[in-house]
Amino acid sequence: MPATDPVPGVPGAGPGDEAGEEAGEERRRPALSPSRAADFKQCPLLYRFRAVDRLPEAPSQAALRGTLVHAVLERLFDLPAAERVPARAKALLGVVWAEIAAESPEVVAAVLEELWTGVGEPAAGGDVPAARVGNPLPAWLSSAEALLDTYFALEDPRAFEPQSRELLVETELSSGVPLRGYLDRLDVDATGGLRIVDYKTGTAPREASEARALFQMKFYALALLELRGTVPEQLRLVYLGEGGEELTYRPEAGELRRFQRILEAIWAAIREADRTGDFRPRRGPGCEWCAHRAVCPAWDGTPPPYPGWPELRATSGPAQAGPAESPHMEGAHGEAHARGASSAA
Ligand code: SF4
Repeated sequence: MPATDPVPGVPGAGPGDEAGEEAGEERRRPALSPSRAADFKQCPLLYRFRAVDRLPEAPSQAALRGTLVHAVLERLFDLPAAERVPARAKALLGVVWAEIAAESPEVVAAVLEELWTGVGEPAAGGDVPAARVGNPLPAWLSSAEALLDTYFALEDPRAFEPQSRELLVETELSSGVPLRGYLDRLDVDATGGLRIVDYKTGTAPREASEARALFQMKFYALALLELRGTVPEQLRLVYLGEGGEELTYRPEAGELRRFQRILEAIWAAIREADRTGDFRPRRGPGCEWCAHRAVCPAWDGTPPPYPGWPELRATSGPAQAGPAESPHMEGAHGEAHARGASSAA
């Protein structure tokens, strides 16, 4: 399963769902994000490891590729409209990759290791497997170029100007639930209608991943409804894998308010788990991609002592590193490019 949430600290990756949470000030104000809400629904202990303990997670090659493509699609709109063509996008890909290689060589090394071994962990024993020869990076970068080709087959970026890219949406519901996230792109049509666009660099949606994506989009739509007082006309998912596909959803105010109650219930459950310290593991298919099985009691591991809610912990000193992704690394499940996965509660 492709993992694609953002990779914290990766240059050009954009802020991610929970950007800024590594800063001590932000950590005093945890907020609900689409990625962390999905984590809690999947497995409360996974949520704890990511949002509360903030255990590090090595970026996957799928997540980093998603980060690359998202960064290119963001920067593409810095160019004059006539220059937004495939050749310029692929040139930008090289620029972003060079930045990552220069500033985060450890991320490149982790990805290279995964490409060599087929798993996200170094081989045991330190021996170099016979298969670990050659350089798989050119082919991997070509796969990112293929995603860009798919993008241009689905959309002509010369034909419009987005209102925003990597837009922070941060608000608080009337019930007090804090929401925070970043959406890939916001378009506004001639009549003022809003269109939220999200790029997915994983494969075309299956039922579960489509539900996860729509959850994310409704989250952004609700946040925009709170912030701007208007229901976005379109929620558009642009899938760049396997030939490409677009899904457009038209939300209604009543459904977003019902969705609000779901978020409020999730937040209440998170806070109750914090009160009791009881974040229970929930084994499922997602365990296959979970980076924390070694400390998960469902897999005979022992979790670290519960550190307490982030806002109640000291904020001085170096911030803990968050997990790689889920956030815009299109998460451990489905799509997530590598934005900062770490934190919003
Ligand atoms: S291994 Fe499975 S049960 Fe354990 S924390 Fe990860 S997702 Fe949850």
